[in-house]
Amino acid sequence: MRVTLFALALSFLGWALAAQSVYISADMEGVAGISATDDPMGRRLMTAEVNAAIAGAFDAGATRVVVNDAHGGHNNLLQDALDPRVTLLRGNLKPYGMMQGLDGTFTAVMFIGYHGKAGSLGGFAAHTGSGRTADLRINGVSVGEGGMNALYAAWYRVPVVFVSGDSLAVAEMQGLIPGLPGVAVKTGIWNRAVRTLSPDSATAAIRRGVADAVRAAAPTQPTLRPPFTVEFEYSTPLYADITEGIPWLERTGPRTLRYTVDEYPAAYRMIRVLYKHITP
Ligand SMILES: [Zn+2]
Repeated sequence: MRVTLFALALSFLGWALAAQSVYISADMEGVAGISATDDPMGRRLMTAEVNAAIAGAFDAGATRVVVNDAHGGHNNLLQDALDPRVTLLRGNLKPYGMMQGLDGTFTAVMFIGYHGKAGSLGGFAAHTGSGRTADLRINGVSVGEGGMNALYAAWYRVPVVFVSGDSLAVAEMQGLIPGLPGVAVKTGIWNRAVRTLSPDSATAAIRRGVADAVRAAAPTQPTLRPPFTVEFEYSTPLYADITEGIPWLERTGPRTLRYTVDEYPAAYRMIRVLYKHITP
């Protein structure tokens, strides 16, 4: 009896290790076919790419897929057109924003529809968090949304396994996580035009790429080195005038604030306050 229970426990452990629980953070500017931030087809095309990623994850044996709508008001994905196997996080005011709901129970993170960071040359609609950000540096490294979100995943020891979006977003992520599988679905021409794959080609490539990445499940994480020193540089001194009143923060320049914390989720939450919840 004891041997049988032991064998059962082992087989359960094997199943648990093999089971893939996938977390998707989905943005919109890096979705194929979109060439304006208010593109009338944006929601539909974003939903199609997310559905392709969900399908790829289940193709490769995932047992749970959660998607977090992480663009603008976080209310873009067409709920009734989503793959019914997914769980959706929707709505804007979430403490951890683009990474809300991720914890150590997941086995893989992927980013869909990501875009270049603030200040990128040739980055379609490039920004970090919002138009208020000129640059975001964490322990001296300039990062975009993909970088700051990958560090959040690393805090929970969940590997980032795949990225899709514009070519700058994919390059940034592969710079941070060498060898990370990625699909670049378009390239910016200046800041308001793109050269893009067709939506059908993009979704096919994403489905294939995600399935391969989930099967490979390579342990891909950026290196985490607490404590975390965040330097947040605004596009104008006006925003820094306001947020320097937060006791954590040290003003280090006309447009720049700095703080240091040991826990990455706390660093992340403050970054989100600084770029999003400041209104002069
Ligand atoms: Zn974004």
